[in-house]
Amino acid sequence: MPNTQLVDPFGRRITYLRLSVTDRCDFRCTYCMSEDMVFAPREQILSLEELYTVADAFIGLGVKRIRITGGEPLVRKGLLGLLERLGARPELEDLAITSNGSQLYQMAPQLRAAGVKRLNISLDSLQRERFAAFTRRDKLEQVLAGIEAARAAGFSRIKLNSVVQKGRNDDEVLDLVEFAVERGLDISFIEEMPLGSISSHKREETFCSSAEVRERIEQGYALVRSSRVTGGPSRYWQVVGSETRVGFISPHSHNFCGDCNRVRVTAEGKLVLCLGHEGALDLKALLRAHPGDSQRLREALQNALQLKPERHHFQVEEQVQVLRFMSMTGG
Ligand code: SAM
Ligand code: SF4
Repeated sequence: MPNTQLVDPFGRRITYLRLSVTDRCDFRCTYCMSEDMVFAPREQILSLEELYTVADAFIGLGVKRIRITGGEPLVRKGLLGLLERLGARPELEDLAITSNGSQLYQMAPQLRAAGVKRLNISLDSLQRERFAAFTRRDKLEQVLAGIEAARAAGFSRIKLNSVVQKGRNDDEVLDLVEFAVERGLDISFIEEMPLGSISSHKREETFCSSAEVRERIEQGYALVRSSRVTGGPSRYWQVVGSETRVGFISPHSHNFCGDCNRVRVTAEGKLVLCLGHEGALDLKALLRAHPGDSQRLREALQNALQLKPERHHFQVEEQVQVLRFMSMTGG
């Protein structure tokens, strides 16, 4: 019988795909993009059909969870059609989206109807001016309305993602947890990663470790270790007496690679085996050279997986260790 799984040389089975559907975004978060970001020409971006073909190949190889990301996935035209096709695949246990929340006020019910099960929404500040400084867009109200729309649409376990920066929003950590607890949301705090060259700040000056964030939270809330393991970089804690789980995404402080179960595909169709490495396989070239040849695509994915690195080596001091921006790879 042919091998129909994706297993790397370290015995890790890949069951989770993060699929970026666009490199574009309506925000310009300072840690993610420069204001004058140059995006890829449209023909370089996978078409909706190509995105589906890639997802289909991964599903055929045993992937059970897909997270749609970007750039901002909700600005991709025709996304709902793609989501409906994926949402109809019974093999998928989970179809999730990571979004900046700006379009949710109008799209949340449609996403739910298309079969999206879970939403991660980025929110770094609850203060209008700070939010505008982080994202370079004055859209806090719109994002908050989007979070309410997502709750009203019936999404369970909505998770907020907050990048914490010293001197910029580290004093808001308790407010963000309170916001999550009051609404029954989960929240993950993210250490900034050295992805892409940025000019707005020196990352090492604003770096705030997960350990510091946790200390701050414990000044207001009791946390107990949660048994939840995702195969990803998050470690979870439960806020005692609430439904809220708090996650910490700590690429610098922890080596989370041992149980890594994921790969990424960029909007340009590059298969990225590890966020901390540059190496990538060009799926777009293969798709366009051999349209409709799903067997070849599956074999290419299986072969590429033999190159998945054992671990990453992020270091804060190295400003531009990985030249790709997160918006290109899909966060
Ligand atoms: N636009 C969507 C959003 O903002 O949620 C999805 C893509 S975004 C690249 C995914 C996540 O990556 C966001 O939560 C964002 O805060 C995070 N992110 C972007 N650049 C980062 C960096 N350099 N270090 C850590 N997290 C980063
Ligand atoms: Fe856009 Fe998300 Fe990057 Fe912010 S983090 S610029 S919302 S892709």
